[in-house]
Amino acid sequence: MQATELVKKINAGDRTALAQAITLVESTKTEHAEIANIILEQCLAKKSSSIRIGITGVPGVGKSTFIEAFGKLMTSMGSKVAVLAIDPTSTISKGSILGDKTRMNELSKDPNAFIRPSASGESLGGVAQKTKESIVLCEAAGYNVIFIETVGVGQSETAVNNMVDFFLLLKLAGAGDELQGIKRGIMEMADAIVINKADGDNIKSAKSAKTEFTRALHLYPPKENEWVPQVLTCSAIENKGIKEVWELISTFAQTTKEKGYFGKRRKSQDKDWFIGHVNELLKKHFYEQQKVKFDLEPLLADIENNLISPFKAAQQLVQKHLDKKN
Ligand code: GDP
Repeated sequence: MQATELVKKINAGDRTALAQAITLVESTKTEHAEIANIILEQCLAKKSSSIRIGITGVPGVGKSTFIEAFGKLMTSMGSKVAVLAIDPTSTISKGSILGDKTRMNELSKDPNAFIRPSASGESLGGVAQKTKESIVLCEAAGYNVIFIETVGVGQSETAVNNMVDFFLLLKLAGAGDELQGIKRGIMEMADAIVINKADGDNIKSAKSAKTEFTRALHLYPPKENEWVPQVLTCSAIENKGIKEVWELISTFAQTTKEKGYFGKRRKSQDKDWFIGHVNELLKKHFYEQQKVKFDLEPLLADIENNLISPFKAAQQLVQKHLDKKN
């Protein structure tokens, strides 16, 4: 199908066309890159007033249940919800924590929701780049609430934080020391901490966890955008406290827009996106060169036989092929 035709369908909200376009964008095949670039460029031209929400938390914390409840609330209010996932585990092993199970059953049947299992790729950076591009496509298809989900392991939170407006950390209460095991960086990135499973016997411990997290958040320096991260409790399964999370996100969007931080953050993310794409292109074009492929094998053999240090080999390869005189 021609790019323009596909874009027309995407703009009309056709989910199949959107899924096809994402597949093209995710593809590593050179023949797909050309059409993907045209699609992206045309989709970027479409103005959108979306909110991009990052959500993270350890497996089992209730991310899918939360997104399902939250997503249904959003579609009931007339929004269109897209859920994309970054799964660092899928780049390491073929398996994936996020992508494989049947998730968000009800939301996936909602005509105003689009759920895309996690992208796969060689590196987290590459996967993140593709996810960023998929956001653009979803927005062109009219999705105005974009969820980027990741598991709370590895480095993926930083990647997600770099492509969203609001970063939500989902936590559990009553799992021993509340603050243990949370990487400092993730707490620091969070715009809200939501303690899920605040139901049944858990209500009391969720409340005390809320107090504890609120106190802990005060220890961090104030954010550049003047936003004070909040702690909330909810029960995704009982659909309690979900509306309050949306109200908080709305307040965040409104105040950061008024103060200009919302747009400023997107601009800075665009610049990072540009650098990230340059890096990807350089890498791709470098390794695609026949001469590079030809020189790579002997250098690997030399490293194996201790004839050259990995450091020197890298210098040699790059210097030789970046220098036009050779
Ligand atoms: P994910 O791995 O973070 O996506 O977590 P899931 O959404 O798959 O939830 C893991 C388990 O926790 C499932 O058995 C859910 O039914 C359960 N769960 C999710 N949210 C809640 C909640 O608010 N309360 C209770 N009691 N259980 C929940």
